[in-house]
Amino acid sequence: MKKHNFSAGPAILPQEVFAQAAQAVRDFDGMGLSLLEISHRSKEFTRVMEEAQALVLELAGLSADDYAVLFLGGGASSQFFMVPMNLLNEDETAAYVNTGAWATKAIKEARHFGKVAVVATSEDREFTYIPRNWSVPAGARYFHITTNNTIRGTQYHQLPATGDVPLVADMSSDIFSRPLDFSRFGLFYAGAQKNLGPAGVTLVVVRKDLVGHVRRSLPTMLNYQTHIDKGSMFNTPPVFPIYALMLTLRWIKKEGGLAAMERRNRAKAELFYGELDRNPLFRGTAVPEDRSWMNATFVIEKPELEQAFLEACEAAGCTGLKGHRSVGGFRASMYNAMELESVQTLVDVMRDFAERHA
Ligand SMILES: *Cc1c(COP(=O)(O)O)cnc(C)c1O
Repeated sequence: MKKHNFSAGPAILPQEVFAQAAQAVRDFDGMGLSLLEISHRSKEFTRVMEEAQALVLELAGLSADDYAVLFLGGGASSQFFMVPMNLLNEDETAAYVNTGAWATKAIKEARHFGKVAVVATSEDREFTYIPRNWSVPAGARYFHITTNNTIRGTQYHQLPATGDVPLVADMSSDIFSRPLDFSRFGLFYAGAQKNLGPAGVTLVVVRKDLVGHVRRSLPTMLNYQTHIDKGSMFNTPPVFPIYALMLTLRWIKKEGGLAAMERRNRAKAELFYGELDRNPLFRGTAVPEDRSWMNATFVIEKPELEQAFLEACEAAGCTGLKGHRSVGGFRASMYNAMELESVQTLVDVMRDFAERHA
Protein backbone atom coordinates (compact mmCIF):
# COMPACT_ATOMS: atom_id res chain seq x y z
CA MET A 1 0.00 0.00 0.00
CA LYS A 2 1.20 3.50 -0.81
CA LYS A 3 2.29 5.43 2.27
CA HIS A 4 1.29 9.04 2.72
CA ASN A 5 3.93 10.57 4.98
CA PHE A 6 2.61 13.49 7.08
CA SER A 7 5.64 13.49 9.40
CA ALA A 8 6.78 16.91 10.67
CA GLY A 9 10.47 16.11 10.30
CA PRO A 10 12.62 14.48 9.20
CA ALA A 11 10.06 14.53 6.47
CA ILE A 12 8.96 13.61 2.98
CA LEU A 13 11.20 14.41 0.00
CA PRO A 14 10.47 13.91 -3.71
CA GLN A 15 10.68 10.22 -4.67
CA GLU A 16 13.10 11.06 -7.48
CA VAL A 17 15.46 12.66 -4.93
CA PHE A 18 15.54 9.42 -2.93
CA ALA A 19 16.26 7.44 -6.11
CA GLN A 20 19.03 9.76 -7.32
CA ALA A 21 20.60 10.04 -3.86
CA ALA A 22 20.60 6.25 -3.50
CA GLN A 23 22.26 5.90 -6.91
CA ALA A 24 24.98 8.40 -5.93
CA VAL A 25 25.77 6.34 -2.84
CA ARG A 26 26.41 3.32 -5.09
CA ASP A 27 28.13 5.06 -8.00
CA PHE A 28 28.46 8.80 -8.18
CA ASP A 29 28.30 10.31 -11.67
CA GLY A 30 29.68 7.14 -13.29
CA MET A 31 32.95 7.52 -11.34
CA GLY A 32 32.87 3.93 -10.10
CA LEU A 33 33.02 5.41 -6.59
CA SER A 34 30.43 6.29 -3.99
CA LEU A 35 29.67 9.93 -3.24
CA LEU A 36 30.49 8.94 0.36
CA GLU A 37 34.12 7.99 -0.37
CA ILE A 38 35.38 10.84 -2.54
CA SER A 39 37.19 13.95 -1.36
CA HIS A 40 35.03 16.96 -0.63
CA ARG A 41 37.72 18.86 -2.55
CA SER A 42 37.37 16.72 -5.68
CA LYS A 43 36.14 18.51 -8.78
CA GLU A 44 33.04 16.29 -8.70
CA PHE A 45 31.98 17.36 -5.21
CA THR A 46 33.03 20.96 -5.78
CA ARG A 47 30.51 21.03 -8.63
CA VAL A 48 27.79 19.79 -6.26
CA MET A 49 28.58 22.50 -3.71
CA GLU A 50 28.64 25.22 -6.37
CA GLU A 51 25.38 24.09 -7.94
CA ALA A 52 23.66 23.91 -4.53
CA GLN A 53 24.79 27.43 -3.64
CA ALA A 54 23.80 28.80 -7.06
CA LEU A 55 20.35 27.19 -6.89
CA VAL A 56 19.68 28.66 -3.43
CA LEU A 57 20.49 32.15 -4.73
CA GLU A 58 18.54 31.63 -7.95
CA LEU A 59 15.40 30.42 -6.16
CA ALA A 60 15.64 33.25 -3.62
CA GLY A 61 16.35 35.85 -6.32
CA LEU A 62 19.52 36.99 -4.56
CA SER A 63 22.98 37.85 -5.83
CA ALA A 64 26.27 36.25 -4.80
CA ASP A 65 27.67 39.79 -4.61
CA ASP A 66 25.49 40.49 -1.59
CA TYR A 67 24.70 37.15 0.03
CA ALA A 68 26.68 34.07 1.02
CA VAL A 69 25.18 30.58 1.09
CA LEU A 70 26.54 28.35 3.85
CA PHE A 71 25.90 24.71 4.67
CA LEU A 72 26.69 24.22 8.34
CA GLY A 73 26.37 21.56 11.02
CA GLY A 74 24.60 21.78 14.36
CA GLY A 75 21.02 22.10 13.15
CA ALA A 76 18.82 25.16 13.16
CA SER A 77 19.23 25.02 16.93
CA SER A 78 22.88 26.11 16.59
CA GLN A 79 21.78 29.17 14.60
CA PHE A 80 19.83 30.25 17.68
CA PHE A 81 23.22 31.18 19.19
CA MET A 82 25.35 31.73 16.08
CA VAL A 83 23.12 34.55 14.87
CA PRO A 84 23.46 36.76 17.97
CA MET A 85 27.07 35.69 18.52
CA ASN A 86 27.97 36.97 15.04
CA LEU A 87 25.59 39.93 14.67
CA LEU A 88 24.92 41.41 18.11
CA ASN A 89 27.26 43.28 20.48
CA GLU A 90 26.63 43.13 24.26
CA ASP A 91 25.31 46.69 24.38
CA GLU A 92 23.09 46.34 21.33
CA THR A 93 19.47 45.22 21.03
CA ALA A 94 17.89 42.55 18.84
CA ALA A 95 14.11 42.32 18.48
CA TYR A 96 12.35 38.94 18.64
CA VAL A 97 8.76 37.88 18.15
CA ASN A 98 7.82 34.88 20.25
CA THR A 99 5.47 32.62 18.30
CA GLY A 100 6.18 29.28 19.94
CA ALA A 101 8.70 26.75 21.18
CA TRP A 102 11.33 27.40 18.52
CA ALA A 103 11.17 31.17 18.89
CA THR A 104 11.37 30.75 22.69
CA LYS A 105 14.58 28.77 22.25
CA ALA A 106 16.04 31.37 19.88
CA ILE A 107 15.28 34.12 22.43
CA LYS A 108 16.92 32.16 25.25
CA GLU A 109 20.17 31.79 23.31
CA ALA A 110 20.26 35.42 22.15
CA ARG A 111 20.24 36.60 25.77
CA HIS A 112 23.77 35.18 26.15
CA PHE A 113 25.12 37.77 23.74
CA GLY A 114 23.24 41.08 23.94
CA LYS A 115 20.00 42.82 24.78
CA VAL A 116 16.87 41.10 23.62
CA ALA A 117 13.59 42.93 23.15
CA VAL A 118 10.68 40.51 22.87
CA VAL A 119 8.44 42.94 20.99
CA ALA A 120 5.42 40.63 20.88
CA THR A 121 4.35 37.17 21.96
CA SER A 122 1.32 34.98 21.30
CA GLU A 123 1.93 32.95 24.45
CA ASP A 124 -1.25 34.44 26.00
CA ARG A 125 -3.34 32.27 23.67
CA GLU A 126 -1.09 29.22 23.47
CA PHE A 127 0.73 30.45 20.37
CA THR A 128 -2.36 29.96 18.20
CA TYR A 129 -1.83 33.21 16.27
CA ILE A 130 0.83 35.53 14.85
CA PRO A 131 1.03 38.81 16.82
CA ARG A 132 0.54 41.97 14.76
CA ASN A 133 0.89 44.79 17.27
CA TRP A 134 4.47 45.68 18.00
CA SER A 135 7.01 48.34 17.19
CA VAL A 136 10.63 48.01 16.16
CA PRO A 137 12.96 49.26 18.93
CA ALA A 138 15.12 52.18 17.78
CA GLY A 139 18.56 51.05 16.67
CA ALA A 140 17.76 47.32 16.75
CA ARG A 141 20.46 45.28 15.00
CA TYR A 142 17.96 42.81 13.57
CA PHE A 143 14.38 41.61 13.90
CA HIS A 144 13.99 37.85 14.35
CA ILE A 145 10.91 35.88 13.36
CA THR A 146 10.04 32.20 12.92
CA THR A 147 8.25 32.22 9.56
CA ASN A 148 6.44 28.94 10.21
CA ASN A 149 5.70 27.49 13.63
CA THR A 150 6.00 23.77 13.11
CA ILE A 151 4.53 22.74 16.46
CA ARG A 152 1.57 25.15 16.74
CA GLY A 153 0.71 25.30 13.04
CA THR A 154 0.90 29.05 12.43
CA GLN A 155 2.70 30.89 9.65
CA TYR A 156 3.42 34.46 8.58
CA HIS A 157 1.48 35.07 5.39
CA GLN A 158 2.99 38.54 5.10
CA LEU A 159 6.46 39.57 6.18
CA PRO A 160 6.43 42.16 8.96
CA ALA A 161 7.45 45.71 8.01
CA THR A 162 10.62 46.52 9.93
CA GLY A 163 11.91 49.60 8.09
CA ASP A 164 15.71 49.63 7.90
CA VAL A 165 16.11 46.87 10.45
CA PRO A 166 17.07 43.64 8.66
CA LEU A 167 14.83 40.64 9.13
CA VAL A 168 16.41 37.46 10.41
CA ALA A 169 14.30 34.35 10.08
CA ASP A 170 14.19 30.76 11.17
CA MET A 171 12.60 29.23 8.04
CA SER A 172 13.24 25.61 8.98
CA SER A 173 9.73 24.40 8.19
CA ASP A 174 8.62 26.56 5.27
CA ILE A 175 11.77 27.43 3.35
CA PHE A 176 11.18 27.67 -0.41
CA SER A 177 7.49 26.82 -0.05
CA ARG A 178 6.43 30.12 -1.72
CA PRO A 179 7.94 33.24 -3.27
CA LEU A 180 9.06 35.89 -0.76
CA ASP A 181 11.01 39.11 -1.07
CA PHE A 182 14.19 37.49 0.20
CA SER A 183 16.07 40.79 -0.12
CA ARG A 184 14.24 41.88 3.05
CA PHE A 185 16.36 39.41 5.01
CA GLY A 186 19.74 40.05 6.56
CA LEU A 187 19.92 36.35 7.26
CA PHE A 188 17.71 33.29 7.04
CA TYR A 189 18.38 29.76 8.13
CA ALA A 190 16.76 26.36 7.97
CA GLY A 191 17.54 22.89 9.22
CA ALA A 192 17.31 20.82 6.03
CA GLN A 193 15.14 18.00 7.32
CA LYS A 194 11.72 19.63 6.85
CA ASN A 195 11.63 20.92 3.30
CA LEU A 196 15.09 20.57 1.78
CA GLY A 197 16.86 17.31 2.43
CA PRO A 198 18.10 14.87 5.04
CA ALA A 199 18.98 15.86 8.61
CA GLY A 200 22.61 16.85 9.09
CA VAL A 201 22.94 20.13 7.26
CA THR A 202 21.64 23.62 8.00
CA LEU A 203 21.24 26.19 5.27
CA VAL A 204 22.33 29.71 6.25
CA VAL A 205 22.00 32.60 3.81
CA VAL A 206 23.60 35.77 5.12
CA ARG A 207 24.06 39.29 3.80
CA LYS A 208 27.82 39.62 3.77
CA ASP A 209 27.94 43.25 4.94
CA LEU A 210 26.28 42.32 8.25
CA VAL A 211 29.14 40.04 9.30
CA GLY A 212 32.34 41.20 10.99
CA HIS A 213 30.97 44.02 13.18
CA VAL A 214 30.90 42.35 16.58
CA ARG A 215 33.73 43.11 19.00
CA ARG A 216 33.84 39.76 20.78
CA SER A 217 36.37 37.21 19.67
CA LEU A 218 34.78 34.21 18.00
CA PRO A 219 35.91 30.60 17.78
CA THR A 220 36.91 29.94 14.17
CA MET A 221 34.21 27.38 13.41
CA LEU A 222 31.47 29.56 14.90
CA ASN A 223 32.41 32.63 12.90
CA TYR A 224 30.32 33.09 9.74
CA GLN A 225 33.26 34.91 8.16
CA THR A 226 35.33 31.70 8.22
CA HIS A 227 32.71 29.87 6.18
CA ILE A 228 32.04 32.83 3.88
CA ASP A 229 35.77 33.13 3.09
CA LYS A 230 36.10 29.41 2.35
CA GLY A 231 32.92 28.97 0.31
CA SER A 232 31.44 26.77 3.06
CA MET A 233 34.42 24.38 2.68
CA PHE A 234 36.58 25.39 5.66
CA ASN A 235 36.23 21.89 7.05
CA THR A 236 34.61 18.74 5.65
CA PRO A 237 31.01 19.69 4.93
CA PRO A 238 28.17 17.14 5.30
CA VAL A 239 28.54 15.91 1.73
CA PHE A 240 25.59 13.55 1.51
CA PRO A 241 22.96 15.93 2.99
CA ILE A 242 24.27 18.70 0.73
CA TYR A 243 24.00 16.45 -2.34
CA ALA A 244 20.42 15.42 -1.51
CA LEU A 245 19.51 19.05 -0.77
CA MET A 246 20.93 20.05 -4.16
CA LEU A 247 18.76 17.38 -5.81
CA THR A 248 15.69 18.78 -4.02
CA LEU A 249 16.52 22.29 -5.25
CA ARG A 250 16.86 20.94 -8.80
CA TRP A 251 13.42 19.37 -8.39
CA ILE A 252 11.89 22.67 -7.17
CA LYS A 253 13.37 24.47 -10.17
CA LYS A 254 12.18 21.83 -12.62
CA GLU A 255 8.65 21.97 -11.17
CA GLY A 256 8.53 25.71 -11.87
CA GLY A 257 10.29 27.31 -8.90
CA LEU A 258 8.75 28.94 -5.86
CA ALA A 259 5.62 30.13 -7.70
CA ALA A 260 4.86 26.49 -8.55
CA MET A 261 5.54 25.45 -4.94
CA GLU A 262 3.08 28.09 -3.78
CA ARG A 263 0.37 26.81 -6.15
CA ARG A 264 0.96 23.26 -4.99
CA ASN A 265 0.93 24.17 -1.31
CA ARG A 266 -2.11 26.44 -1.62
CA ALA A 267 -4.11 23.66 -3.29
CA LYS A 268 -3.22 21.21 -0.50
CA ALA A 269 -3.99 23.75 2.25
CA GLU A 270 -7.36 24.64 0.68
CA LEU A 271 -8.30 20.98 0.37
CA PHE A 272 -7.30 20.15 3.94
CA TYR A 273 -8.68 23.22 5.73
CA GLY A 274 -11.86 23.07 3.62
CA GLU A 275 -12.55 19.63 5.08
CA LEU A 276 -11.49 20.68 8.58
CA ASP A 277 -13.99 23.56 8.60
CA ARG A 278 -16.77 21.41 7.15
CA ASN A 279 -16.24 18.35 9.33
CA PRO A 280 -18.11 18.54 12.69
CA LEU A 281 -15.81 16.01 14.40
CA PHE A 282 -12.53 17.96 14.01
CA ARG A 283 -11.42 21.47 14.91
CA GLY A 284 -8.32 23.46 13.91
CA THR A 285 -6.23 24.91 16.73
CA ALA A 286 -4.66 27.93 14.95
CA VAL A 287 -6.68 31.04 14.07
CA PRO A 288 -7.80 30.75 10.43
CA GLU A 289 -5.91 33.80 9.12
CA ASP A 290 -2.56 32.52 10.44
CA ARG A 291 -2.96 28.85 9.60
CA SER A 292 0.19 27.19 8.32
CA TRP A 293 0.22 25.69 4.83
CA MET A 294 2.99 23.37 5.98
CA ASN A 295 1.80 22.01 9.33
CA ALA A 296 -1.94 21.82 9.99
CA THR A 297 -2.72 21.32 13.69
CA PHE A 298 -6.12 20.03 14.76
CA VAL A 299 -7.99 18.15 17.48
CA ILE A 300 -10.96 15.81 17.64
CA GLU A 301 -14.14 16.89 19.47
CA LYS A 302 -14.45 13.46 21.08
CA PRO A 303 -10.97 12.87 22.61
CA GLU A 304 -11.84 9.23 23.37
CA LEU A 305 -11.70 8.64 19.58
CA GLU A 306 -8.17 9.98 19.14
CA GLN A 307 -6.48 6.58 18.98
CA ALA A 308 -9.17 5.13 16.72
CA PHE A 309 -8.70 8.01 14.28
CA LEU A 310 -4.93 7.49 14.14
CA GLU A 311 -5.57 3.80 13.44
CA ALA A 312 -8.01 4.68 10.65
CA CYS A 313 -5.34 6.94 9.16
CA GLU A 314 -2.71 4.19 9.34
CA ALA A 315 -5.12 1.74 7.70
CA ALA A 316 -5.31 4.12 4.71
CA GLY A 317 -1.51 4.52 4.60
CA CYS A 318 -1.52 7.97 6.26
CA THR A 319 1.31 8.12 8.76
CA GLY A 320 3.05 10.67 11.02
CA LEU A 321 -0.14 12.46 12.11
CA LYS A 322 0.33 12.50 15.87
CA GLY A 323 0.67 16.07 17.20
CA HIS A 324 3.93 17.24 18.80
CA ARG A 325 4.41 15.63 22.21
CA SER A 326 4.15 19.05 23.89
CA VAL A 327 0.68 19.88 22.52
CA GLY A 328 -1.07 16.58 21.63
CA GLY A 329 -3.87 16.32 19.06
CA PHE A 330 -2.95 15.87 15.41
CA ARG A 331 -0.63 17.52 12.94
CA ALA A 332 -0.68 17.01 9.20
CA SER A 333 2.60 18.20 7.70
CA MET A 334 2.24 18.93 3.99
CA TYR A 335 5.70 19.98 2.86
CA ASN A 336 6.60 20.79 -0.76
CA ALA A 337 7.12 17.18 -1.80
CA MET A 338 3.68 16.00 -0.66
CA GLU A 339 1.25 15.32 -3.49
CA LEU A 340 -2.35 16.58 -3.47
CA GLU A 341 -3.43 12.95 -3.73
CA SER A 342 -2.02 12.26 -0.24
CA VAL A 343 -4.02 15.12 1.26
CA GLN A 344 -7.10 13.81 -0.57
CA THR A 345 -6.55 10.41 1.04
CA LEU A 346 -6.40 12.00 4.51
CA VAL A 347 -9.48 14.12 3.82
CA ASP A 348 -11.38 10.99 2.76
CA VAL A 349 -10.40 9.25 6.01
CA MET A 350 -11.58 12.25 8.07
CA ARG A 351 -14.90 12.39 6.21
CA ASP A 352 -15.51 8.67 6.50
CA PHE A 353 -14.51 8.60 10.16
CA ALA A 354 -16.86 11.47 11.03
CA GLU A 355 -19.74 9.73 9.26
CA ARG A 356 -19.12 6.52 11.16
CA HIS A 357 -18.89 8.32 14.53
CA ALA A 358 -21.60 10.94 14.07
C1 LIG B 1 12.67 21.62 13.47
C2 LIG B 1 12.84 23.05 13.76
C3 LIG B 1 13.97 23.55 14.42
C4 LIG B 1 15.06 22.65 14.98
O1 LIG B 1 15.89 22.23 13.99
P1 LIG B 1 17.19 21.32 14.31
O2 LIG B 1 17.82 21.22 12.96
O3 LIG B 1 16.67 20.03 14.85
O4 LIG B 1 18.01 22.04 15.30
C5 LIG B 1 14.09 24.91 14.60
N1 LIG B 1 13.13 25.74 14.15
C6 LIG B 1 12.02 25.31 13.53
C7 LIG B 1 11.01 26.29 13.05
C8 LIG B 1 11.85 23.95 13.31
O5 LIG B 1 10.74 23.50 12.69
